[in-house]
Amino acid sequence: MKVVDNIAALRAAREHMGGSVGLVPTMGALHAGHIALVKQARAENEHVVASIFVNPSQFAQNEDLSKYPRDIPRDLAMLEAAGVDVVFTPTPDLIYPPNYQTWIEVETVSQGLEGDRRPGHFRGVATVVAKLFNLVQPQRAYFGQKDAQQVAVIKRMVRDLNFPLAIRVYPTVREADGLAMSSRNVYLSAEQRTAASVIRRALVSASKAYEAGERTAEDIRVVISEVIASEAVAELDYVSIVDAETLNVVEAITERPLLVSLVVKMGSTRLLDNMLLPAHLNTLEGLTQTLGGG
Ligand code: AMP
Repeated sequence: MKVVDNIAALRAAREHMGGSVGLVPTMGALHAGHIALVKQARAENEHVVASIFVNPSQFAQNEDLSKYPRDIPRDLAMLEAAGVDVVFTPTPDLIYPPNYQTWIEVETVSQGLEGDRRPGHFRGVATVVAKLFNLVQPQRAYFGQKDAQQVAVIKRMVRDLNFPLAIRVYPTVREADGLAMSSRNVYLSAEQRTAASVIRRALVSASKAYEAGERTAEDIRVVISEVIASEAVAELDYVSIVDAETLNVVEAITERPLLVSLVVKMGSTRLLDNMLLPAHLNTLEGLTQTLGGG
């Protein structure tokens, strides 16, 4: 496995890759969710490139950029074991040199949900991902369902800017008790960590209500609020029910697939999770086709 920290070396390594290239962008502090993306990329491409970059421009002023967990030696060992060919580990100065001025705004799908709570977040995400696409020129790029709005933003950008690649959306990888794996889970106290399994239980209850014929978004929101309220240390930030393709807010439930997403606060930590309904869509192919449109 080659580790490259400059653009000339990345381009040189890319030139030697015949056949398809799969790209897995990450912010490091890797866990089994990231590795599942890498293994999927490995299975579908001749070459796999991963990136580790804690992207400053996607953190809002009050967010945890300086505290964000970092452990490059451990990350590199995990990526090598998973079969990555090249890891790109740029510094912020390499990505945003002095006098950097070019930003990508994906308009409507960047609004609502996380976009409203994290001003500038998706502008930072879209910009860095566009740069990675230009630098690596992958045939396929792999993203996780957990960041569902991110998937919708990137898919829209790929269509609007004619990037010649496919976006693949991997289902959320979970701990044994159902908590979605996240680099930020290390911030949780023991008590918060135990309580955090309530998030998945709330989503499963929502899915059951949907299967039982619940036909308004408000009823599903109530089911979720009640389950979250059963854990004293969990505070529901928001629960949102949107059309899974457009991310437009939905009130009456129709045959169209839904994205149910929520954020729960545990102290100062925000835990994000979601599910597509009907639940059979929460697979690699279902998510790839449905989330943010095909
Ligand atoms: P991050 O390092 O948090 O920016 O995540 C890098 C990629 O891994 C993103 O596409 C995430 O959506 C994805 N990812 C994060 N957590 C999980 C998870 N639990 N299961 C699957 N993919 C994930």
